[in-house]
Amino acid sequence: MLSLLVAGCGSGGGDNYGYGFGYDAQVNGLRVRYSDGGMNEPSADIVAMWFEQTLQCANSMETPELSSIQVPPPLVIVVPPDTVDPYDGLTYYDTGTVLIERQWALDRGLYVHEFVHWLLFIRHGSFHDNHNHLAPEFSCRWN
Ligand SMILES: [Zn+2]
Repeated sequence: MLSLLVAGCGSGGGDNYGYGFGYDAQVNGLRVRYSDGGMNEPSADIVAMWFEQTLQCANSMETPELSSIQVPPPLVIVVPPDTVDPYDGLTYYDTGTVLIERQWALDRGLYVHEFVHWLLFIRHGSFHDNHNHLAPEFSCRWN
């Protein structure tokens, strides 16, 4: 599980690292795209619920000042195996894009993990305990 911070380079932005910004389903602003047409699981409703659960869990750990900062729902793209090898998921901070490898598509914990990276970046900016997974919010994976 790797989260890349790509600051100021030319690859993000317009083409979203070649992924574009299209999606197959949207719930409460959270967009989901399935790279494999044969698999449309989990549903966007489920992914949106996992995102909401992540917010609730993190909010319970943070000060009112931090927890009041809204976190834009990401674009979640289920990608083929080995796309982000050797990791299982990846978060692009500059475009708000979360990649989940298909073999982990039903693993709630991986989504929560990547959502925590995104939430921490929005609320704290880039900081060490996000990159090294020491921020307490990462325990939300197990809640
Ligand atoms: Zn991670």
